[in-house]
Amino acid sequence: MKRLFVILSFFSALACAQVDQPKLVVGIVVDQMRFDYINRYWDDYSEGGFKRLISEGYNCTNAHFNYIPTYTGPGHASIYSGATPSSHGIISNYWYDREVEEYSYCVSDAEMNTVGAENGSGKMSPSKMLNTTFGDELRLFSMNRSKVIAVALKDRSAVLPAGHMGNFAFWLESETGDFVSSSYYGPRLPKWVQKFNKKDVCEGYLSHKWELLLPSKRYDESLNDNSAYEEAFAGEKYPKFPHDLPSLIEHNGKGLIKGTPFGNSLTKDMAIAAIEGENLGEDSFTDLLAVSFSSTDYVGHQFGTDAKEIQDTYLRLDRDLESFLSYLDENIGKENVLIFLTSDHGAVRTPAYLKDRNIPAGYFEAEEPIRELKQFLQNIYGFGDWVKTYGDAQIFLNRELIFEKYLSLEEVQQQTADFMLRFDGVQKAVTGRTLENNEFEAGILACLQKGFNQKRSADVFLVLDPAWIEYSHTGTTHGSGYTYDRHVPLIWYGWNIKAGSTSEKVGITDIASTVSSLLGISFPNGSEANIISIPLSE
Ligand code: ZN
Ligand code: ZN
Ligand code: ZN
Repeated sequence: MKRLFVILSFFSALACAQVDQPKLVVGIVVDQMRFDYINRYWDDYSEGGFKRLISEGYNCTNAHFNYIPTYTGPGHASIYSGATPSSHGIISNYWYDREVEEYSYCVSDAEMNTVGAENGSGKMSPSKMLNTTFGDELRLFSMNRSKVIAVALKDRSAVLPAGHMGNFAFWLESETGDFVSSSYYGPRLPKWVQKFNKKDVCEGYLSHKWELLLPSKRYDESLNDNSAYEEAFAGEKYPKFPHDLPSLIEHNGKGLIKGTPFGNSLTKDMAIAAIEGENLGEDSFTDLLAVSFSSTDYVGHQFGTDAKEIQDTYLRLDRDLESFLSYLDENIGKENVLIFLTSDHGAVRTPAYLKDRNIPAGYFEAEEPIRELKQFLQNIYGFGDWVKTYGDAQIFLNRELIFEKYLSLEEVQQQTADFMLRFDGVQKAVTGRTLENNEFEAGILACLQKGFNQKRSADVFLVLDPAWIEYSHTGTTHGSGYTYDRHVPLIWYGWNIKAGSTSEKVGITDIASTVSSLLGISFPNGSEANIISIPLSE
């Protein structure tokens, strides 16, 4: 009997590839998760969520984004491609397209049609991303036998992780509360998605009030509720608990769920439905499920980093992770699933709050400075519309006019940069030419350079002082090259990963090459090929 077992295991070993691969890779991206949310809320987490990932997994406590701007589109593209915007081309969520002279969205694609709704919400594809992802490399490696599925509330957080060869990406459509997709992946929604949509899961979550999960005294890591730094929901008098979701639907539509922790619960339900509907992790070809939890971002933008709402959202996400992990245990087995959990960027503590605590912070309002810049350029170069547009701290000059007048682009860029330095809150103003002609090793200039795509990016880049943002005085945002936006969690868990941690500095762009190396497949084509050394069991 023993010999038979040995022979059988010999043959089953032969059937596998040379590298012992997990059956399923699950990439979890928590939108706008600052690193400190793990430690701040530690005592209120369950045993089976974040605590379990950290105690049984490998925790990289010093993981950073290495480019500007730290937004969702570039974040997801960088995590899955192992490259930065200078190479993968997703330079922001929206950017000014010089050719068509208007803003273009990072995953919009006019050639595509919506699958699952009667509107434009599915006219999306990854066509603007110039690199492969590790999901693409996995599909190429396995001759398409590996499956790649992505699930998120936001379209960009599903489309970019699914890569160019993903089988399907699904995201939430705000009007109907259904998950939809693009004709890029197929002509209709798979049956299991149609079935999931019919269950009205979204409506179920919106049929009760959002109350605190734990007794309110447990929320002593947050400010008192109804502070001056929070924004109420439309239709609500004060930004405080309980939030009466059923009555708020009228003013906000079903998209309301995104701004509550239940958007994450819905995402988890859909992720489990995807595993079952697509039979992920069943055969010997490694599959990828990319899941993005984005309610954390909506809640952070609206209530800020110190509100009870954001703490409650993390405590509830922790419970969702707990149930997701036990689902994977029971149905696929921890030893067959490789999980990484990270974030697409962090966030700054609400500057108005920081100012009230004597920490330098502020709000940059660009309208007047840009008006003065236009006047200044006219004084030098004569009448003309010298500035095309300003957005995300980037100035696009009117290159046609500059070339038409035989002016030096470099000189106009430099005049613009020098002028913008006179305004409060502007710490640096850097020209595109500077980024083209130098090689920056570290610091903010290196981050700007890694975010700079010579063809798509602007002419002049503003770097604001720390904790200065362009935003409303309630809630918060992200996008800078400061550590509060760059430092995020990175935890590896399951499969052969041994428990442990490292405080060695690692880059977010190391995730894709590390996954590729663990799977024994090629690196994504633009990746920097740095591998994080994670201890594995024999
Ligand atoms: Zn984000
Ligand atoms: Zn509140
Ligand atoms: Zn955001």
